[in-house]
Amino acid sequence: MADTIFGKIIRGEIPCHRVYEDAQVLAFLDIFPLAPGHTLVIPKEAKATLGELSDESAAAIGRVLPRVCRGVERATGCVGYNVLQNNGSAAHQVVMHVHFHVIPKLADGRGLGIGWEAGKLDGAAGAELAKRIAEGM
Ligand code: 5GP
Repeated sequence: MADTIFGKIIRGEIPCHRVYEDAQVLAFLDIFPLAPGHTLVIPKEAKATLGELSDESAAAIGRVLPRVCRGVERATGCVGYNVLQNNGSAAHQVVMHVHFHVIPKLADGRGLGIGWEAGKLDGAAGAELAKRIAEGM
């Protein structure tokens, strides 16, 4: 995988405002926050998308994410928060190294805005789709 800006941050070649670090995970403030406290949680394993991640990195990220969420909540006094994880440029991913956004939603409305145009799940098509997804795992 090509090196990214997050690879450079992991190696300490460019600075960040570090929130948390262990052998497998790093969390730091986003440089262009949607709201103060917007934090990125990344595996040190260099993979572009979540589906490529090893079970070990996934478990390490899963352990750290709730802790970071608690820290963001306490530090910002937010009224809610979103955890966002983009995969692929079509899905708004810009930095091709897996990362989770923890984005506080503030009482004044700052935070993530979401467009959510929901469809309706068809029973028969849903059964077939669930089967195909399960087979693809
Ligand atoms: P994506 O759209 O790929 O999910 O989000 C990438 C995020 O990385 C963006 O929110 C962007 O502000 C953040 N970002 C990009 N470059 C840097 C950087 O050099 N330092 C930090 N701290 N954040 C960055």
